[in-house]
Formats: sequence, C-alpha cells, structure tokens
Amino acid sequence: AAKHDGGSNCLRYTAGMAGAVAGSAALGAELRQAIARGELFLEYQPIVALDDGRPIGVEALVRWAHPVRGVVAPIEFIPVAERTGLIVPLGDWVLREACRQLAAWSAEHGSPVASVNVNVSARQLTDASFPDRVVAALDTAGVAPDRLTIEITETTAVGLGDAVAHLEVLRRLGVRIALDDFGTDQSSLTLLQDLPVDEIKLDRSFLQRAGSGRREAMPAAVLALARAVGLEVVAEGVEVQQQADRLTALGYRAAQGYHFARPLSADAAGRLLSGTAVAGV
Ligand code: C2E
Ligand code: MG
Ligand code: MG
Ligand code: MG
Repeated sequence: AAKHDGGSNCLRYTAGMAGAVAGSAALGAELRQAIARGELFLEYQPIVALDDGRPIGVEALVRWAHPVRGVVAPIEFIPVAERTGLIVPLGDWVLREACRQLAAWSAEHGSPVASVNVNVSARQLTDASFPDRVVAALDTAGVAPDRLTIEITETTAVGLGDAVAHLEVLRRLGVRIALDDFGTDQSSLTLLQDLPVDEIKLDRSFLQRAGSGRREAMPAAVLALARAVGLEVVAEGVEVQQQADRLTALGYRAAQGYHFARPLSADAAGRLLSGTAVAGV
C-alpha cells in the first residue's frame, strides 16, 4: 500500500513539476521586468516572544504580484531567480525595501520598531558586491546595522567560498546572522561550528506531531546545543497553542508561525509592531 501511495504521489508531483518547468522560461523573462515594474512586494511575518506574544521582529518574505498569474509564491520564482542570476538584483531590492519599511514604521509610530530579517540566497551572499549592498541598503534607509538579521540557509552556505568572509564583514558592523531551517541538512553541525552566526531557526518539520520519539526530542536537543555554543534560537512553524506551550516549557523564548500571525501586509505588520493591533490575525 505504501508503495502504491508513493507511486501516485510521484505521478502528481511529476505532473506538477512539468507544468512548473514549462512555465519557468517564461517566468524568467518576466521576472527580469518585474522589479522595474514594481510587481514585487514584501509581506512581514512577526517573530514573537513566547512569554507574552509580543512581536520582537519581523521576517520579510517576497511575493510577486504577477499581472496575469496573480500573486506568485517565492518557492516558484526564487529558484528561477537563482538559476538566472536575477537573484542578485532581486535580493538587493528586497534588502532595500525591507530597510526602507523598517525606517518608515519607526517614523510613523514614533518609536524604533524591532528589527527585520531578510532571506539571502547563496548566489547573493557570495557575490563580491554583497557586503557593500547591505551597507548601502542600511545607509540609504538610515537603519542601524543591529536592526537587520540576514537569514542564510544551510544549503546557502554550502560551498562557502567568500560567504564566510562576507558574513564576518557584516557581523563586525553589527548585522546579525541567522541560520534558517536549522537541522534539515546533513552539514548542520559543521556549519554551526564554522560559520559566524548569532541565531538559529529551528526548522518547522521538528514541530510536527506525527513524528517518532526521536523527532519529538529534537527541539530540546537543538535548544541545548544552541545554549552550549551561545546562540539564540527561534522556533519556526508554530501552528497551534500546544506547540507554543511545549516550546515554552522547554525554555524557548521566541517563535514564529501561523498560530501567532501569518505573513502580513506592511500596514498590518506596522500596526502590530506599534501595539495597535493584536497578534493572531
Ligand atoms: P523561510 O525563510 O523558511 O520562511 C518561512 C516560510 O514558512 C514562509 O513561506 C512562511 O510564510 C512560512 N510559514 C510561516 N509560518 C508558518 C506555519 O506556521 N506553518 C507553515 N506551514 N508555514 C509557515 P514563504 O513566504 O512561502 O517563503 C518560502 C521560502 O521562500 C522562505 O522560507 C525562503 O526560503 C524563501 N524566500 C522568501 N522570501 C525570500 C527572499 O526575499 N529572498 C530569498 N532568497 N528567499 C526568500
Ligand atoms: Mg527565512
Ligand atoms: Mg525558515
Ligand atoms: Mg525555508
């Protein structure tokens, strides 16, 4: 039965892939125009303190308001952008926009609101211009470096190259570095040992209930590891109260997920950050 199910999943997946691949050449050409046409936008998902649910920061997540396809998710166009090299200008736009928005929230609400996390791909991180681009985005917006966290994935950092040097430059300036989706790659521990990082984000797969006893032991183990090496941890993908309770009981202090808030428009996130709206929307 398992084999049969696997087979049908494979078929569906293959059919979906074929559609995605057929569309990707067209998507690549259009993506080139998307930035100039102002079709990209960011949503912001709050990162909250587990003790009282207050937002302590946001993660910027890019979307593409395609004129025909509607809103396209990053999973569909980030890989295309990575293959074509468009990720460099696209990522630069994301950095600038996230910093600009953070400054705008601070101006609107009269107080500095938290911090912003920005996802960065390998191609961007290893690009010679990366440190300068980050500094320019911060300077243009007038945002202090310690209000920005760069999220890199474990795969981003594989094949390191100049990645470590670039991260070190930024970190010396005060920019924070987070290792995203932690625990999903084979090289997690080596990277944790070798990369200059401040924080890890526990991958959401470790919170799923239908797991083995071993899977259920992972959040505690990762927290112990993080403490041993002096890093902060954010748990990703908290969807229900029970998960939040369990993380709190284990000693986690920060989390992110649909249970607290979905990715929000800039306006909605600004209201949440300024305390004029409550989480849970
Ligand atoms: P990520 O960086 O791990 O971001 C978290 C993803 O999980 C987001 O998906 C978010 O909407 C989703 N999520 C948040 N809470 C929950 C939850 O409780 N349950 C579930 N099932 N999902 C949750 P999204 O926005 O579709 O982004 C997917 C991925 O695309 C991101 O994963 C990141 O790797 C990439 N991405 C997004 N924006 C950017 C960007 O500006 N640049 C780059 N290079 N990659 C980006
Ligand atoms: Mg992320
Ligand atoms: Mg993640
Ligand atoms: Mg991810």
